[in-house]
Amino acid sequence: MRSIKLAALNAVTSLTLPSRRARLRQAANKGTAPISVSFYHRVADTSPNDWTISQQKFRQHIDYCQANFEMIGLDEVQRRVRFNDSRTAALSITFDDGYRDNCDFAIPLLLERGIPCTYFVTTCNIQGQKPFEHDVLHGDPLPLNTVKQIREMSDAGIEIGCHTRHHVDFSKVHDPAIVRDEIVHAKSDLEQITGREVRYFAFPFGMPAQLTQAAIEVIDEAGFDGFCSAYGAYNLAGRDWFHIRRFHGDPEFVRLKNWLSIDPRKVRQEPEVRYFFPPAISFQETFPMIGRPAPTMAH
Ligand SMILES: [Zn+2]
Repeated sequence: MRSIKLAALNAVTSLTLPSRRARLRQAANKGTAPISVSFYHRVADTSPNDWTISQQKFRQHIDYCQANFEMIGLDEVQRRVRFNDSRTAALSITFDDGYRDNCDFAIPLLLERGIPCTYFVTTCNIQGQKPFEHDVLHGDPLPLNTVKQIREMSDAGIEIGCHTRHHVDFSKVHDPAIVRDEIVHAKSDLEQITGREVRYFAFPFGMPAQLTQAAIEVIDEAGFDGFCSAYGAYNLAGRDWFHIRRFHGDPEFVRLKNWLSIDPRKVRQEPEVRYFFPPAISFQETFPMIGRPAPTMAH
């Protein structure tokens, strides 16, 4: 069943690729090319699972992405969205959680090629070398990055981002003190480790339910430049740039290619997320929306 679905997707993507490319070029000419931001968790050839991609497949992804996209950092994603200035097909690479194996192959590959990368880590798990609950439940407590590795990555030019202290699900946290602690404390811990400002936050799980109003307000107050979701969407010029939308760097190459070529169904079917941005974040643009209505925003 899975292979039939993938074969169908492959056929659709191949058939529509020329028209999608033409549409992307037209949008780029107007400064409105949708911007892709992908996320990975773990690149390794051992202990395969749903959140791991093999080294060979990751290299295939990066080869393809580098050949077809301008590889940019999250600050440039935001600039393009904010100023309606998205004039090339572009992609930003991110990682979540902080798995040790990433330093064997993936991070050296990105550094060697000069590809920008934002690496989101969960501080208490890293500092205490405490495996993630999702790995323990899966019966495979995978090793995490060390504090030294985080510092070395930062020194080498990887942007280190915040992924809370304990990988919390904000849809289940209602105590404001915990929300604050998971965001503010994690940021300052990471800044102490890296000696650099930590500019970006990625919501654990990153689905619409986790993007709570309380957490977004604390993210703003803490001085972050933006936050990432993970429910699968593009960044469209003129929209709310504080929210960076991402999709999974799926090990199935055809799914990645489908996302990267801008699947019109994904644009139309983006889930609606409702939140108000704090007044501190002012949006100069209103957004001519493609597809579904944009999140509610305060001006
Ligand atoms: Zn995570």
